[in-house]
Amino acid sequence: RDSGEQFAFQAEVTRLMDIIIHSLYSNKDIFLRELISNASDALDKIRFLSLTDKSVLGDGDTANLDIKIWLDPASKVLYIRDRGIGMTKDDLIKNLGTIAKSGTSAFLEQMQKGGDMNLIGQFGVGFYSVYLVADYVEVVSKHNDDAQYIWSSTADGSFAISEDTENEPLGRGTLIKIHLKEEAQEYGTEAKLKELVQRYSEFINFPIYLQTEKEVEVPVEEEPEEEAAKEDDKEEEGKEDEEEEEGAEDDEEETKEEEEKPKATRKEKKLDWELLNDNKAIWLRKPSDVTEEEYQKFYKAVSKDYTDALTYSHFRAEGDVEFRSILYIPSFSPYDFYDKYYEKAQHGLKLYVRRVFISDDMKELIPRYLSFVKGIVDSDTLPLNVSREMLQQEAALKTIKKKVVRKVLDMIRKMAETEVKCKDMEEKGETEDKPTEKECGQYAKFWEQFGRAIKLGIIEDTTNRNRLAKLLRFQTSKSGDKLTTLDEYIGRMKEGQKSIYYLAGTSKEEVAGSPFVEQLLRKGYEVIYFTDVLDEYVMGHLLDYDDRKFSNASKEDLKLTDKDEVEKKKDKELKEQFKDLTKWWKKVVDDSKLQGVKVSNRLATTPCIVVTGKYGNSANMERIMRAQAF
Ligand code: ADP
Ligand code: MG
Repeated sequence: RDSGEQFAFQAEVTRLMDIIIHSLYSNKDIFLRELISNASDALDKIRFLSLTDKSVLGDGDTANLDIKIWLDPASKVLYIRDRGIGMTKDDLIKNLGTIAKSGTSAFLEQMQKGGDMNLIGQFGVGFYSVYLVADYVEVVSKHNDDAQYIWSSTADGSFAISEDTENEPLGRGTLIKIHLKEEAQEYGTEAKLKELVQRYSEFINFPIYLQTEKEVEVPVEEEPEEEAAKEDDKEEEGKEDEEEEEGAEDDEEETKEEEEKPKATRKEKKLDWELLNDNKAIWLRKPSDVTEEEYQKFYKAVSKDYTDALTYSHFRAEGDVEFRSILYIPSFSPYDFYDKYYEKAQHGLKLYVRRVFISDDMKELIPRYLSFVKGIVDSDTLPLNVSREMLQQEAALKTIKKKVVRKVLDMIRKMAETEVKCKDMEEKGETEDKPTEKECGQYAKFWEQFGRAIKLGIIEDTTNRNRLAKLLRFQTSKSGDKLTTLDEYIGRMKEGQKSIYYLAGTSKEEVAGSPFVEQLLRKGYEVIYFTDVLDEYVMGHLLDYDDRKFSNASKEDLKLTDKDEVEKKKDKELKEQFKDLTKWWKKVVDDSKLQGVKVSNRLATTPCIVVTGKYGNSANMERIMRAQAF
């Protein structure tokens, strides 16, 4: 055929495809998961549009929202067809090659660092994984707004697009023709495909059919051969595949019953569509009927992650607003979670209304700092036949969001409490009813990955600030190598101690050795060491905890304890004694840079120190602001 208009792939896409097609990565299976996931996304899109305009579905076969997979063993071509939204010519050009997604370079970087190919879906470039198994791919697509087009490429830096004049009309949707490479011939067998499709389609909410070949026994009639053959032909034309099969079985039974000596039969191969998933939504099932393994499999299907979730919660909310939900906390933070935190769309939770997928990017469903949470929310209360914009205005969404946040914070709190309990039991040497090692270690893993999200939450979510503060972990002058909590700090406070002392800096060593904390440490006060750039921002929002004020050790107004009369008198004398020195000092230093010079007893061995005014930014904060970390 005329190869059509030629396009060059965007440079990074070319690099990506080059790596994929030459990859020795052994787990090539993932291509099927990615293609099925794309088909399912496309079906979700057309189903969503059909809510407000039924005509988009078309008539007859086109309205069947399904996925079909078949194989041509002779030519070693694998076909995947969906009746999703399809792609216009423009979509094909943009989505499959000329525009690099933000994940493209990030994924390339990961691969260079030896990252796992399995991550590809998370970076939004899953389609290209088809080149793990193919050396030539054709994408035939029909969108309601355009003619049918073919995209094709051998991953050589360019692709071709032409109007399709050779394939059957698709009606609507996309057909991917995968020409299997020599070393990927294993995907050219029915058994392998069946195993894979079953594995990856279990939680796809559309029926997935695989064309399979069945062996059926057909009686050999004693009539003249020719006539029998004619009749067979007739039947095949008029009947559906399934009926035929039943007919054949019936015949067989009759034969057995009626005659003692079985009639001669012959074996025939017949192609049939076999449904491979039961596509019943997992969240509609009772939690007690769903196994841990199923939850983890479903997690992988909704999250594009390939490692198990850290923890999850399946629940049903009742009352004015009803919904079902399964929420997951991943084991690892998404690669770009803290990067450009404020600019990115929030992918995470999938919103369904009465089993119909609506969106996976609704900030009305979960706050930004928790957008690492994956899973689904399916509500019967929300209206189905409205636009996304109208849906976003729904008051019920606010209630759902509130409940989802509560549930997520509950999941996190439980892990945190288990950790504290384990620590306590270890200290006391208790073993009875001790949580498992895995349970004991869960929160530490969570904190490592999502501690910063909790801190961002303290800044952003005033309603839950106190709940979030309980989840904070940090090092202190008394915590040794371990992390500690605010409650534990308070439990160790000295008699008469009113404030929670902290100091922020770039490392524990720097902060611990700082003159700012000398006196505090000498007097036995515990000081929190904040070493993350976010910490001081957080403290700017979290002014107190459990009625104790936070006190920054680098600020001017640091008061250790109430002084008695003797101490006050001594202070006064010292002030007098050094009056000339402080005056002189103020004169030699530029006035505009110095607010004042004071005699103080906050130091132990260091002779003098520059502190920040009560309302000014601390030196650490200035350093951060200069670096423009956030
Ligand atoms: P992602 O699915 O994360 O967006 P992919 O690389 O898998 O990334 O797919 C790129 C884009 O190509 C999709 O976002 C979609 O717009 C388009 N696409 C891929 N497969 C299909 C399909 N079967 N039907 C319609 N559009 C598709
Ligand atoms: Mg995809």
